[in-house]
Amino acid sequence: MSESLDFQELRERAATTERIAYGIDSVIACDNLVKIYKVAELEVVALQGLDLLVDQGEFIAIVGASGSGKSTLLNILGGLDVPSAGAAAVAGYDLLNMSSEDRTRYRRQVIGFVWQQTARNLLPYLSAQENVELPMILEGTPRGIRHARATELLELVGLGDRTDHRPEQLSGGEQQRVAIAVSLANAPSVIFADEPTGELDTATSSEIFEVLRTVNQDQGVTVVVVTHDPLVSEHVNRTVAIRDGRTSTETLRRTEIDEAGETQTYAEEFVVLDRVGRLQLPEHYVDSLELKRRVRLTLDDDHANVWPDTDERYRPARERETEEVGE
Ligand code: ADP
Ligand code: MG
Repeated sequence: MSESLDFQELRERAATTERIAYGIDSVIACDNLVKIYKVAELEVVALQGLDLLVDQGEFIAIVGASGSGKSTLLNILGGLDVPSAGAAAVAGYDLLNMSSEDRTRYRRQVIGFVWQQTARNLLPYLSAQENVELPMILEGTPRGIRHARATELLELVGLGDRTDHRPEQLSGGEQQRVAIAVSLANAPSVIFADEPTGELDTATSSEIFEVLRTVNQDQGVTVVVVTHDPLVSEHVNRTVAIRDGRTSTETLRRTEIDEAGETQTYAEEFVVLDRVGRLQLPEHYVDSLELKRRVRLTLDDDHANVWPDTDERYRPARERETEEVGE
């Protein structure tokens, strides 16, 4: 995290950001989102101007090192924590200005949440079926409808034959499948999953990502999964990387049928450009070119170049001539 960060400037910048129209077509719109935790006299900037747009129906992964701000972001989007500055909207709900009634409605109807700790997702003394029905009971859904929906959702996540099992009678992966069904109970627009495979082995993790993909396609629900599991990018179309509380790169994956009729998958990494044209260079570029403080930037017809400022060879010729003439 940058040592020279000016908190006052950061707050002002976030506050003066133009909010209108940004992300109006997106189900999730984070604009210059800032979260500062105060612990005693110390300020920890967990999110420092994060921008993110997600379309309805997308299945995206957010990846990043431990401490990069993933859970902070998800807690804000889940309505569990309030940002310090910036703007965040999900399905038309303004997460910075929500009455407590709206917040309750938002958390019960608009979104679903899946946690890493299997124990946090499910009530231990209820069966899978009862766990899935619980959110619907809180909403006053009639018995017949909620029973049918819970059965349907458990079948969707591959647990049609485990409906009467209590969590302790299920494996970790099965418990997470139930948790996904619970998150879908009230037909939310978006489900958020924070490290849902953190306690699972690789093979089971893959299965859980596939279940998330299935519910995304079958229910049309937008899915945002946070993970440090690099394998996730094989399951989603878009992987957003967070670094130091900001989105830094995005990997887009697409499948095409080639001339021989074979399915080919292509993945390409992009650097995120923010609303005012800022981008972050990958760490290994900065290291291998020994970039510090400033760089030379030149524009060609169809691309731009970044040079170390110490390297005389890359100074524009015009500049060198002017200096020679002046001597
Ligand atoms: P991740 O989920 O990517 O591991 P977090 O969002 O949990 O990261 O944390 C981001 C940063 O914010 C870390 O430096 C962490 O120590 C700090 N942080 C998170 N939650 C709190 C909190 N409740 N109080 C103080 N600092 C926090
Ligand atoms: Mg976390």
